Amino acid sequence: MAEVNSPASNLGNNYIGRFAPSPTGPLHFGSLLAALASYLDARSSNGTWLLRMEDLDPPREPAGTDQIILDQLQALELSWDGEVLYQSSRLPAYEECLQQLTDSGLCFRCDCSRPRIKSLGSVYDGHCRDRDLGETRNSAIRLRVDNSQIEFCDQIQGAYSQRLIEDVGDFILRRKDGLFAYQLAVVVDDAFQNINRIVRGYDLLDSTPRQIYLQRILGFPTPSYAHIPVVTNEQGQKLSKQHFAEPIDTRNGSEQVLLALKFLGQQPPDSLRGSKLKTILEWAREHWDIQAVPKLANMPLCS
Ligand code: GLU
Ligand code: ZN
Repeated sequence: MAEVNSPASNLGNNYIGRFAPSPTGPLHFGSLLAALASYLDARSSNGTWLLRMEDLDPPREPAGTDQIILDQLQALELSWDGEVLYQSSRLPAYEECLQQLTDSGLCFRCDCSRPRIKSLGSVYDGHCRDRDLGETRNSAIRLRVDNSQIEFCDQIQGAYSQRLIEDVGDFILRRKDGLFAYQLAVVVDDAFQNINRIVRGYDLLDSTPRQIYLQRILGFPTPSYAHIPVVTNEQGQKLSKQHFAEPIDTRNGSEQVLLALKFLGQQPPDSLRGSKLKTILEWAREHWDIQAVPKLANMPLCS
């Protein structure tokens, strides 16, 4: 069943978008792309652009990184609306949704090891569904999925679908170490912040059906999605702190933004070279064309 989401132009002034960095390191070129694309998409539609700090994994988040990211965004003149939402302040909300899913009989404990799941090709086989591990320590909480086909229309990449049972399996909502999983937190907060348009990296494309599945059971609306290309290094790995991506040098913000615009398929005129950031961003807001953002895979057109 095709579910076609409305393009940004239909959202008008009610557009609410967001950028949701994890403070595991300063912004690098890859995260600048996500920030800039979500910013331009929102601002070119006179939309709201919110900022959410996805700080749910303290061991991976060096102290002060959130502030570095905020300073970088400010230096790049990407100004957000309202207060920054910190996921670390939202634990009771995640707990409540998890309880709701548990009360509906949709959750179970799982103590399977990582190597076992890896040996299954990372598609969970439902091994612990009926084992009834109780409140065992050192177990994760997973959500039972069904075999329905979840399809959505990515506004850049085209139609994408998964059957969760075959492609992912029952997935984790709360990890063994007690931390809430990204999939749960992101869905709860996108709904809480009334986000209706999500522009983010292509590496999250295959998380989207899980998020839509959760939205449906929790009774939340599904935003429209657009996934932009992620930058890889020479080894084909996504740029990330682990792979030594250089932090953005905001002293030459104009150059970085021009480069990012080109990477996003926009065509800033040469005359903008050497211009002030403000001028470049004005041009970019006026000329933002999401259809020009490169498509990565040969995904079918949306029906
Ligand atoms: N926090 C996630 C990341 O930095 C992004 C989450 C999202 O945009 O849905 O990769
Ligand atoms: Zn298990």
